[in-house]
Amino acid sequence: MMKTLCILGATGSIGGSTLDVVERHPDRYRVGALTAHKSFDALLELSLKYTPDVAVLSGLTPSDDLVKRWKQSGLKTELIFGPQGLISAVDTSTVVMAAIVGAAGLPPTLHAVSKGKTVLLANKEALVMTGALFMRLVQRSGAIVLPVDSEHNAVFQCFGQTSHQTAAPKVVQRITLTASGGPFLRRSIASLSSVTPDEACAHPNWVMGRKISVDSATMMNKGLELIEAKWLFDLAPTHLKVLIHPQSIVHAMVEFCDGSVLAQLSNPDMRVPIAHALAFPERIATGVKSLDLASVGSLQFEVPDRARFPCLDLAYRVLGDSGTLAAILNAANEVAVEAFLAQQIAYLQIAEVIQATLDAVPAGSAASLEMVLAADAQARAKAAAHVAALGA
Ligand code: NDP
Ligand code: MG
Repeated sequence: MMKTLCILGATGSIGGSTLDVVERHPDRYRVGALTAHKSFDALLELSLKYTPDVAVLSGLTPSDDLVKRWKQSGLKTELIFGPQGLISAVDTSTVVMAAIVGAAGLPPTLHAVSKGKTVLLANKEALVMTGALFMRLVQRSGAIVLPVDSEHNAVFQCFGQTSHQTAAPKVVQRITLTASGGPFLRRSIASLSSVTPDEACAHPNWVMGRKISVDSATMMNKGLELIEAKWLFDLAPTHLKVLIHPQSIVHAMVEFCDGSVLAQLSNPDMRVPIAHALAFPERIATGVKSLDLASVGSLQFEVPDRARFPCLDLAYRVLGDSGTLAAILNAANEVAVEAFLAQQIAYLQIAEVIQATLDAVPAGSAASLEMVLAADAQARAKAAAHVAALGA
């Protein structure tokens, strides 16, 4: 049956991989809406190719020049400017790929959940920030949330369910998320003080947006993923584990009460989890290269070195909390990573900014969206002040 798809963050890395899969299955999906923040040219190009009903530039205001260029293209697609357009984009479709990076993705993702849509969740920050609130809304609205993050998608596949419920079956004892260890796994810790944004973004196995690439280098990405897993699979922190696996072939493992461990393997290509979420409970072709374990040779696993990855420790500090601590962690991380990418702070100062923010902003209840957004704003202000102090 044909479904209409909205892609929030269509001009990004996940957006591009999603369109690649969708294009292979014109009988299953038509594109209802595409959104970008400021990338006008890229959005125009995608709109000419996929002819959505609606296209959104959430970070721009209308200008005569842009409106004229859109009209001249001959497109019938309605072009909307400003963040409210993201809500209109969601309303066009029954299935929503949530692939905006960071907290900016929260409003449209929560809107999609509250409207009972099928939400394919790449934007982990939205769930990390709102945790219990997000999952309660899923229950209340009847929305379907399917994990796109490769590790979480792998866990969900290992559960072996045909229902879309993401809570772990009672017989699950432990889940292990794997992490590549990023580009600095084997570098001396002393040399990390001078690494550049481009070095931090040069991920050995995955091609991703710059924010998640830095998160992978610091392993904050795995920290955010532990929090994501806690909520998605309804598991206590003691049931969650992280292992470094430099080859990025095994994406996660699930251990059952009888001692059986199931793992999901594939080449590191986001089209695998994206296609799984798009077609669930069926499977569809992706064009992904067949996995050749003989040429991979060996699969290695090791425990992460906490001294090398202080950001992972900071996430563990937050993992047991059900209040606003995760939103504070996430906000501080977003500010610190942006400052690092803008070369305002050094790589090792990312963890410093986050730690200082966690120390300074009191944790509170996360019972309402207002409470979460207030904590997010407070944390951003503290983190920005700390960045400014470091630069002074
Ligand atoms: P990219 O940076 O490649 O793309 C981000 C997308 O979001 C772009 O379309 C961008 O538009 C848009 N965007 C950026 N800022 C805003 C904003 N303030 N408001 C609205 N839209 C905005 O990111 P990725 O595709 O790498 O990641 C997207 C999400 O998926 C992240 O949450 C990430 O953690 C998650 N994820 C990504 C994986 C990957 O392999 N890339 C793997 C697992 C999870 P524009 O082009 O105009 O800037
Ligand atoms: Mg991941």
